[in-house]
Amino acid sequence: MRGIKFSIKLKVTLWYTFFDLLIVGIIFILLIKGSQSNLLGGYQKTLINTVENAAEDVEYEDGKLEIDIEHEDYPSNIRILVYTLNGEKVYGSLPYGFIEKIPFSVEEIKRENTGEKEWYVYDTYTDNNEEQVYWVRGILSIDSSTIAISSIIGTAFILLPLLVLLAAVGGYIVTKHAFKPIDNLNHAIASIDSGNDLYKRIPYKGAKDEIYTLTQNFNEMFIRLEEAFTREKQFTSDASHELRTPIAVIKAECEYGLMQKENPLEMQSSLESILRQSQTMSALVNQLLMLARADKGTVQLSKETFNLCELVEMVVESLEEEAEEKQIKLYIFRQEDIAFYGDQTLMMRLFINLVSNGIYYGNAEGYVKIRLEETEHQIIAYIEDNGIGIAKVHQGKIWNRFYQVDPSRSKFRAGSSGLGLAMVKWIVEMHQGNITLESEEGKGSTFKIVLPKFKG
Ligand code: ADP
Repeated sequence: MRGIKFSIKLKVTLWYTFFDLLIVGIIFILLIKGSQSNLLGGYQKTLINTVENAAEDVEYEDGKLEIDIEHEDYPSNIRILVYTLNGEKVYGSLPYGFIEKIPFSVEEIKRENTGEKEWYVYDTYTDNNEEQVYWVRGILSIDSSTIAISSIIGTAFILLPLLVLLAAVGGYIVTKHAFKPIDNLNHAIASIDSGNDLYKRIPYKGAKDEIYTLTQNFNEMFIRLEEAFTREKQFTSDASHELRTPIAVIKAECEYGLMQKENPLEMQSSLESILRQSQTMSALVNQLLMLARADKGTVQLSKETFNLCELVEMVVESLEEEAEEKQIKLYIFRQEDIAFYGDQTLMMRLFINLVSNGIYYGNAEGYVKIRLEETEHQIIAYIEDNGIGIAKVHQGKIWNRFYQVDPSRSKFRAGSSGLGLAMVKWIVEMHQGNITLESEEGKGSTFKIVLPKFKG
């Protein structure tokens, strides 16, 4: 059987055909046993009754033996014989093949086997007359009961395979019917060739059973795959779009610059523009590379214990000039030194992204406040600004790659491509933390980061 692959339908059918056979077989054996004991029990009772009745029909009157047995309606398979107490037969003939040498005894059924046949023998004696007592013997050939049993066995032998065959065929049809939805499922899955077919759903009409749950799960998986596939497609088209713009600018500036050989100032301005665009492209490509590696799961965090307060101070210092330009004040609120075990470079990038967003999307004379708190198991950071805020409809989407609430506003910002918050979220998640946003359009935004504390 090893190596042979059966379909589930066939396996199920084979299994319950096997069990059918087993059950029918057991019933069959019990039937034979039961009928044997019932039949034999019945014959034994008839034998006893017949012999006892016959004994009453034997009379001895006026020195004469009178036997009335012929007139009675006794079963034909029972022979009645009458003997004197000396064992001399005075009535009846022995059945063929019966050995006569069976001693007389009362109230017990004797069983004799002569090889070909079995016999039941029952004896009693007459007590009608005290002067003369006779033995009355009944002999039953066991053959007759065996015939009855064998006819039952014969019928069962024909019925048994028929029943099993019926069960197997019926079972296969039922199983095939039950597996129909699985076949449908198979066809539906097989019809999905490429990502473009992911919109397809598996239809299911029927009871809310296991197949229904399986179909539901498949359909939900298709929804998730479709979303992921669409995101992927969107990402590729966004990335090429983002790269196309600086490339077009660089190309145009090069062409213009080459025509300005006589005008070194114009040429310098073209070169500066090319430099800015290539810096933007470089930042974008770096972020894309980082996110691609993050997707592949190949980014190795280089974790160490460092003072998070110092890191935030460094970030604030590096952004001070930018903030001043926009007349935005930067504040740090912290308890004391906070030791954090994590990737310092990534954490630096996280705070730079959030604080510079706060400055860029802030209003003049506004503020960005960074608050650091430490509890027994967590470090909590708040980055709060009173800038333009983010409307509710955009709040769920700002974490998506390339998502910008107002691309025309962001386009003047060097290196801005809508990847910043996607990176921030990924960094937080790499440190097993989570980030949430509370914001109101026109009032400002607060990003809250909760990071678990780990020991280095
Ligand atoms: P971008 O490079 O465009 O700033 P981000 O991923 O950092 O990309 O942010 C995505 C979008 O979320 C931004 O384009 C901006 O519309 C919005 N945003 C992010 N931070 C703030 C903030 N502090 N205040 C208002 N809007 C913000």
